[in-house]
Amino acid sequence: MAVTGAAMRFMLECFGFSIIRAMELTTILNHCYPHRGFVYDHARFSPDKKSIEVTVRPRQGTKAVCSGCDKPVPGYDRLPERRFEFIPFWGFLVFFLYCRRRVQCRACGVVAEKLPWSDGKHHSTKAHMLWLARWARKLSWKETAEAFHTSWDRVCDAVEYVVQFGLEHRTLDSIYAIGVDEIQYAKGHKYLTLVYQIDQGFTRLLWVGKERTIESFQGFFTVMGEKVTSGILFVCSDMWQPYLEVIRQRCPLALHILDRFHIVAKMNKALDEVRAGESRGLARDGHQPLLKKSRWCVLKRKENLTAQQQFRLRDLLRYNLKTVRAYLLKEDFQQFWTYNSPHWAGLFLDFWCAQTMRSRIEPMKKIARTLRTHRELLLNYFKARKEFSSGVVEGMNNKAKVTMRRSYGFRTFRILELALYHSLGKLPEPTLTHEFF
Ligand SMILES: [Zn+2]
Repeated sequence: MAVTGAAMRFMLECFGFSIIRAMELTTILNHCYPHRGFVYDHARFSPDKKSIEVTVRPRQGTKAVCSGCDKPVPGYDRLPERRFEFIPFWGFLVFFLYCRRRVQCRACGVVAEKLPWSDGKHHSTKAHMLWLARWARKLSWKETAEAFHTSWDRVCDAVEYVVQFGLEHRTLDSIYAIGVDEIQYAKGHKYLTLVYQIDQGFTRLLWVGKERTIESFQGFFTVMGEKVTSGILFVCSDMWQPYLEVIRQRCPLALHILDRFHIVAKMNKALDEVRAGESRGLARDGHQPLLKKSRWCVLKRKENLTAQQQFRLRDLLRYNLKTVRAYLLKEDFQQFWTYNSPHWAGLFLDFWCAQTMRSRIEPMKKIARTLRTHRELLLNYFKARKEFSSGVVEGMNNKAKVTMRRSYGFRTFRILELALYHSLGKLPEPTLTHEFF
């Protein structure tokens, strides 16, 4: 049977109409972000055509849920309409418009209802905040705000929401090894104490403390609680006295390992002191400036020297200079880290210290004295079979520095804390049924 023109038009209209309906925004929203008891009513442009507004209403016959006790309760009245920012769409900002109900709860009195897409405190939907926060881990906060036509404060809000959720929901059991270190911020005038978990195969930032005092580090143990801290078996730190005291006090059973990186750094500092002093002395007494431009020749590791620096070093070593003797002592000490047995490492350490004490080079003698005082802690490095070295802590600290550098807006401690937890804390995130990111 031939189809008449009118019937054809009718079929086309029906067919075309159903395609358009299937692609309505509310249909997509129902698919990716449905909420029990609520209906996406309709979507329209805002008057300036720059954003899309989706009105939301309660589903007929469903009760509101009390935000105080999570129980369905009768409604009381409705609050004025509020906008909740959602994930933007093809260059348009998207907002949910909803008049929140207030409920009359027997237990809680008259309170606002619970909303599944928002916690009520923020101006964004949970999905939007999670989405922004994930981007804020890949881009700087400023870039995130610019890329998605939102404000820096919204991004900060989003990160705060996600971090808070993460801190409340993270698991803290089975932490065996921690590393503690400090980091400078605010143009080097202030310090942060950072505590990392450095178990093999799992490293993360556990705690951020203001300053690097005994009180601030105590804060870590208070937050973690007795149960968690009593399970700690290894602690890695530098020789910063306040840390040492707190660790002795709070983790008396844990093996405390002194940080290799910091010892090497201390030794380099002493060597540089010797070199600078001797260089000044030579100039003062009118001798040849033998030590000119020698700084990196003696400080750098042998294998990292350039050909010219190698040549310069070989030349230097011919002279009987304090710097040369200090350099040789430093190089000699490298052997310490190659031992496997704590016993032999201990013998080497004693020998090296005795030799250095006879060297009559004051900065080096000071190092030897420090190493002697911390002998036990140094040998713990070998007792822990070199498993937990500060290399991991150093790596984490570098990441923390990158986070700080990437975010010039982080001037206050609170913001910095959020950013560090966000990028290094490996915190659990709120879950959504649909992957927007
Ligand atoms: Zn209630």
